[in-house]
Amino acid sequence: MAKQALTLPNGETILYQLERRPRRTIGLKITDDGLVVHAPKRIFEFQLHQILMQKASWIIDKLEARRKNSVPPIAWQDGETLQLLGNPILLNVTLDAKNKQPELSQNSLKIASPEANNHAVVRRKVTQWYKKQAMQDFGRRLEILAAKLDVKTPPLALSNAQSRWGSCSSRGDVRLNWRLLQAPPQIINYVICHELAHLKEMNHSARFWAVVASLFPDYKKAEKDLKALSPQLHRM
Ligand SMILES: [Zn+2]
Repeated sequence: MAKQALTLPNGETILYQLERRPRRTIGLKITDDGLVVHAPKRIFEFQLHQILMQKASWIIDKLEARRKNSVPPIAWQDGETLQLLGNPILLNVTLDAKNKQPELSQNSLKIASPEANNHAVVRRKVTQWYKKQAMQDFGRRLEILAAKLDVKTPPLALSNAQSRWGSCSSRGDVRLNWRLLQAPPQIINYVICHELAHLKEMNHSARFWAVVASLFPDYKKAEKDLKALSPQLHRM
């Protein structure tokens, strides 16, 4: 169905889908395809336009919110862009008679497998590689930052949690979400400093944040950046 164009008061022109229905009022909804307008069969175009203009701020807000939250899922195939330590890397998938170990060279991660066309196989190979790298990378950082706080390096495990980036148990074990490996180094450092600070303060009191600040002064910005980055990190 052809789409209609609408220029909003903010200057942005959007396309919307107009569906005439046997109804009395105008209904608006935002879908994955954008704005859909359900309008009565007998309404003049200028009347419709007037009403849409009255609803412009609602439309702008909803489209904006949708844009922010909608991060396309990763396509597990050749040519996709992945994030590694805050840098884009190219996913390079090739068919190969042998099932090879993933290999990072320059700015691409090479996956070679007889099952290169199987997205689930590519996904498994990439995530396994990320987990292995995460363990090494996080382990090094944990050691350095623990020394800075003057505590013994705690045992590290990876987590696969959907809602949290790190945790510290009462026994002093630190768990970090492997997906953090996609984030810029300062974000990873912040999460590690946060968990290490729990070795001194098992709460989120002012005293706790003072310990965090002693390790990572700009923690407020990092916390905000991590929140903004979360939908992106959860693509993987
Ligand atoms: Zn905490």
